[in-house]
Amino acid sequence: MTEGGRSITMSDSISQVSLRCGFCLELNTVNVERAGDRPVCSACSKPILLDRPVKVSQDDFEKTVLQSDVPVLVDFYADWCAPCKMVAPLIDEIAHQHIGKMLVVKVDTDRAPDVAMKYEIRSIPTLIIFQDGVEIERSLGFEPERVRDLIEKAVA
Ligand SMILES: [Zn+2]
Repeated sequence: MTEGGRSITMSDSISQVSLRCGFCLELNTVNVERAGDRPVCSACSKPILLDRPVKVSQDDFEKTVLQSDVPVLVDFYADWCAPCKMVAPLIDEIAHQHIGKMLVVKVDTDRAPDVAMKYEIRSIPTLIIFQDGVEIERSLGFEPERVRDLIEKAVA
């Protein structure tokens, strides 16, 4: 007979992100590595879905994006922006493919003027990859090949 239990390692605590529940707006701390285990909101028990982009408000930008333990891809967009709609399926694909390794979020630049100004977003769509609170790469417009490349390096 062998022991079936798995050991608990310190790495359990190094991939945390703060995410606001889309239903009740409770701020949850989620271990991204366990995103596949269908995490739920601590307040309302509704699912926190990480296999798709998460909308982040200006007020939550620092907590969710800059304080994330994993790389974060931010899609700066606006509802009226046609090229942004071209980028959307790419963002969806990246969120789905890299679940557990990174966080993919969308920021509506019309509702986040301070963040847009801070990061000098002059055209949309602009995609920025953040790691440890710092911008490491940026893509302007529709550059699917380059963005996939940058993501592969960021999660490697
Ligand atoms: Zn909730």
